[in-house]
Amino acid sequence: MSNFLSEVKDITRIERTAMHSHIQGLGLDDFLEPRNVSQGMVGQKSARKAAGLIVRLIKQGKIAGRGILIAGQPGTGKTALAMAMSHELGEQTPFTSISGSELFSLEMSKTEAMTQAIRKSIGVRVKEMAEVLEGEVVEIRIERPESLEGVRKGKITLKTTDMDSMYEIGNKMMDQLSELGVTSGDVISIQKAGGKVTKLGRSYSRSKDYDILTSNINFVECPSGELQKTKEVVHMISIHDMDVINSYSRGFEKLFLGNTGEIKQEIREKINEQVLLWREEGKADIIPGVLFIDETHMLDIETFSYLNRALEDDLSPILIMASNRGITRIRGTNYKSPHGIPIDLLDRLLIIATKPYEYEDIKHILKIRAEEEDVEIDEEALEMLTNIGVETSLRYAIQLIITSDLVSKKRKGTKVKLNDVRRVYSLFVDVKRSSQFLKEYQKQFMFFENNETEEKEE
Ligand code: ATP
Repeated sequence: MSNFLSEVKDITRIERTAMHSHIQGLGLDDFLEPRNVSQGMVGQKSARKAAGLIVRLIKQGKIAGRGILIAGQPGTGKTALAMAMSHELGEQTPFTSISGSELFSLEMSKTEAMTQAIRKSIGVRVKEMAEVLEGEVVEIRIERPESLEGVRKGKITLKTTDMDSMYEIGNKMMDQLSELGVTSGDVISIQKAGGKVTKLGRSYSRSKDYDILTSNINFVECPSGELQKTKEVVHMISIHDMDVINSYSRGFEKLFLGNTGEIKQEIREKINEQVLLWREEGKADIIPGVLFIDETHMLDIETFSYLNRALEDDLSPILIMASNRGITRIRGTNYKSPHGIPIDLLDRLLIIATKPYEYEDIKHILKIRAEEEDVEIDEEALEMLTNIGVETSLRYAIQLIITSDLVSKKRKGTKVKLNDVRRVYSLFVDVKRSSQFLKEYQKQFMFFENNETEEKEE
């Protein structure tokens, strides 16, 4: 059961990210001014500028323990904005994204799930001295076994400007090299303990194979001196991963499987002590990352007050929440509040507002989505889709792109035409038409609102 749940979570997460796969950043210039269309982002300029400012503060380490609320009507790009911030922050800043509803799982309590999400969003950058082999790859030779029972044998030759040497390599190393796409001419580093391979770049000696000005290949010098050296290596790990690894004898496996279960408080306290000590000794830096919570209205009063307290902790990330709700009831109480968020928490949040899109912005977003989904669409069809987006919702119009393409392909077309869009518009109803239909025919459905007694009896 628990595996099934984590699979479902992963699928929803993948779908959520796929909706925003066209977003590569906030599309700002060096002065944080938003370009109209850039890095997949369109319009929504003041929100993008505000988000850019927050990203800069996060990078400078100036706003740990703070909260941001992105508030606006459905489909105004709140999640898109958060995804863009995650791209801007880059791999060196942990970014965890959850949806309010994910906290209500059967696997663990809400506060445990929230604590894990918070701790996933705090990174520890550990520096240590390690023995490495570092050189330019001269040759990788892998001998395939002749029979099924036979074992693969591999050898790698590395060189510096002063020496070269050949090493035997095992299966794991061969797999890593092929996953990373390492070929001769790459400069790599292999950690002697654990055998982790890092690709440092392509040797300058191979630069004549490429146009150095236009290609985005990272060229590096072939190392000099000994192949084997002691080097400072940096690892990034979240404190949640440290909790898990220290909770179980096979903690790494648990991490890969994703079913970590509840973590004991003593373990967390020990890890906190350890991390703060490393920081004091200059062995590690603590990197407060971002915890993004979508569908904030799904959180209840307990979770909100837990979050409020967590933000005051020594080790706390930057909290970004998104809400499309107006003044509404706080879950778990009878009190109403803006966005359904308690006033004391709201008071410590910086609020970024997103506004509904005009025709031109919707058209641009649809055009970018069509390119992203590899769908060719003609101008008339795009205009029709845009009108649908204006009249119904941006998200509904986005859904019609791939469906129109299927209809177009069925008639062996190469481009989506007006009639393809018309066809899917009649096949799939939007929320407005669906509600209209329900109003007209509600008596024939179960649980219709004018007959509450019947509903209770069910
Ligand atoms: P909800 O309140 O319903 O969760 P939302 O405000 O989070 O909605 P998104 O899911 O971010 O809205 O936007 C809907 C779709 O439109 C997504 O595919 C998103 O990537 C895209 N989108 C929204 N705004 C922009 C934008 N400014 N530029 C490019 N794409 C955008």
